[in-house]
Amino acid sequence: MSATATSSPAKSARPEWAKARRIVVKIGSSLLVDHAKGALNAAWLESLAADMAALKKAGKQMIVVSSGAIALGRHVLGLPRGVLPLEQSQAAAAVGQISLASAYQAILKSHGLTAAQILLTLGDTEERRRYLNARQTIATLLGQGAVPVVNENDTVATSEIRYGDNDRLSARVASMMSADCLVLLSDIDGLYTAPPGRGTDAKRLDVVRQITPEIEAMAGSAGTELSRGGMVTKIEAGRIALSSGSNMVISSGKITHPLRALSEGAPCTWFLAPSDPVTARKRWIAGQLEPKGSVEIDEGAEKALLSGKSLLPAGVRKVMGTFERGDAVVIRAADGRELGRGLIAYAREDAQRIIGRKSGEIAAILGHAGRTELVHRDDMVLSKG
Ligand code: GLU
Repeated sequence: MSATATSSPAKSARPEWAKARRIVVKIGSSLLVDHAKGALNAAWLESLAADMAALKKAGKQMIVVSSGAIALGRHVLGLPRGVLPLEQSQAAAAVGQISLASAYQAILKSHGLTAAQILLTLGDTEERRRYLNARQTIATLLGQGAVPVVNENDTVATSEIRYGDNDRLSARVASMMSADCLVLLSDIDGLYTAPPGRGTDAKRLDVVRQITPEIEAMAGSAGTELSRGGMVTKIEAGRIALSSGSNMVISSGKITHPLRALSEGAPCTWFLAPSDPVTARKRWIAGQLEPKGSVEIDEGAEKALLSGKSLLPAGVRKVMGTFERGDAVVIRAADGRELGRGLIAYAREDAQRIIGRKSGEIAAILGHAGRTELVHRDDMVLSKG
């Protein structure tokens, strides 16, 4: 057994689950859709919605990443079984996504929850500018108490710009939203050392702290997952989640009330991140991005920043360099001291026109509405503290 993994019977929920404030739940087609009938497994979804309502009541924010569009749509269109050519799966998704979204809307509504549909492509989560937009929209929905229901925008995503599996998409969403926890509901209750059932000594791992070649090898052999992703993409999801500070758990969705089961300490495999999402994001902004320019701010803005506020255009005296919206910039005091770094919400040309002005004037100056903040505090890392 690797030093990075342990196995023992689980008794109660892990503290990481109890403490999680923002949770992404990934639901695969094999759980949600009865493939023989091409119908939604409504009773199961009902039980999941009840669990989500309970978690929301306990103060947690919930994001769903749900597959099922293609599985539902192919039945309606009478498409054959097996792997579909791209254009047919896109057509199936176009039909199925409507049913999927309306099922979520109805079932969540019956639990007092508002569903919000978000369809993403690879570029929305990979390109910083688009990523910041998606992040802001989802954050706004969460702030309004809604439950974002995310899927890949399969009807427009062609192979080269496509995830193709919602395991990795859900990990990108967890990373983009700085979620504390990503739950992959699966048809198996965790990662096993060998294919369960076939060997006598296959053990489920309780905790994985690092994705080692040994862990990857286990994923390669545990081919029990029926949906598109399999265990290999779950491990890739784990790599994405862990590097952005989100914990991940693989647990069984083969039971009703699968999230309540997690709260009650059901068997599962936890992938524990070495740091939290805020620290991981700050490290990324401060250390990994090459700054494309800088902004010089006044004393009032410096005080505001030090007290935890965002940088507004009004407090900026000068902008330097050539940057696009979403690029990293250095924030400097009037005497040149580096105060911090952050992702800027405007390209150089627009920033130049709105500095020194009130945020309320932005729309009139630029001719279109934009962000109130030049650098939002969540996108900023101060040099001190
Ligand atoms: N996005 C696809 C769908 O909704 C599913 C991808 C997956 O199975 O992971 O049908």
